[in-house]
Amino acid sequence: MNNLYDIIIIGAGPSGLTAAIYARRALKSVLVLEAKSYGGQIINTLDIENYPVEAHISGIDFATKLYNQAKNLGTEIKFQKVVDINLNKDLKEVITTKEKYISKAVIIATGNENRKLGLLKEDTLVGKGVSYCATCDGNFYKKKSVAVVGGGNTALEDALYLSDIASVVYLIHRRDEFRGEEKTVSKLKEKDNVEFVYNSNVTKLNGEEKLESIEVTNKDGTIKEIEVAGLFIAVGRVPENENFRKVIDLDENGYAKSSEDCKTKTNGIFVAGDNRVKEVRQLVTAVSDGAVAATNAIKYINNM
Ligand code: NAP
Repeated sequence: MNNLYDIIIIGAGPSGLTAAIYARRALKSVLVLEAKSYGGQIINTLDIENYPVEAHISGIDFATKLYNQAKNLGTEIKFQKVVDINLNKDLKEVITTKEKYISKAVIIATGNENRKLGLLKEDTLVGKGVSYCATCDGNFYKKKSVAVVGGGNTALEDALYLSDIASVVYLIHRRDEFRGEEKTVSKLKEKDNVEFVYNSNVTKLNGEEKLESIEVTNKDGTIKEIEVAGLFIAVGRVPENENFRKVIDLDENGYAKSSEDCKTKTNGIFVAGDNRVKEVRQLVTAVSDGAVAATNAIKYINNM
């Protein structure tokens, strides 16, 4: 049958490519389908310092090494967006915007995207002052002035983390009540270098080569400019699971429901990485999911 693979992996981020390595080493035929570029969100990280063995590696180097490793083991990788999965008895039909492929097992490793503020220059200043990950990039702002935008637990925890590194942390929230936990808010209130900016939105980013300041607009219409070297955007994340609602269960935030075995409600469909319900979303747990999902997909195929 044309276009028939043992395993189709959707997403060429760390978990998808790790799954490909495990599947190829078990001599399964593997197609990875990726809508954008390989590497996933890790390519936005300038310096990875928390991955075992490599004390420092850029996100793009990490992703390129992983991509080459998967390719050299014989993984086929196509850059096409998957829009649907149909079940045909034990086989899965994976539909992209260009073609239809068939596989015995599917691993959905689409990750999730940072919700953006939608500001001009937001994309071009990523890595030059704009960040979506305080634990990844916070260390670059030692004794500098930074802002965090958002009112959920991520924003609160980011602000707390940054308050030990930066000289001042402006916590900017669009309401005067936080969505995140009160006990973290209390800890932040005890910090001398955290300034709360309520009822306000970041409305403009200033700077060309790097971020220099932000424009903040209050609900009452007053506008002020705050000089910051870093802006940490923590306004939620958007898992990329919408096209798979038919075959996997999603929680109220859109994350794929599965236990630690990466299995879903559909036999032969697995989820791996940041798009599934889990507590720790880090590079090391993403690659771990890839190994778990591929191992269970291989077992599933061998028992078919
Ligand atoms: P979140 O809870 O969805 O919060 C997003 C925050 O961003 C909200 O305060 C929201 O404001 C604000 N926001 C959304 N869009 C915005 C926009 N366009 N402009 C300005 N502000 C905007 O997201 P999260 O903080 O990433 O947390 C995601 C989930 O993980 C939550 O369930 C959270 O509890 C959980 N989490 C837990 C922990 C922990 O337990 N230690 C740590 C981190 C995250 P509004 O409040 O006005 O809607």
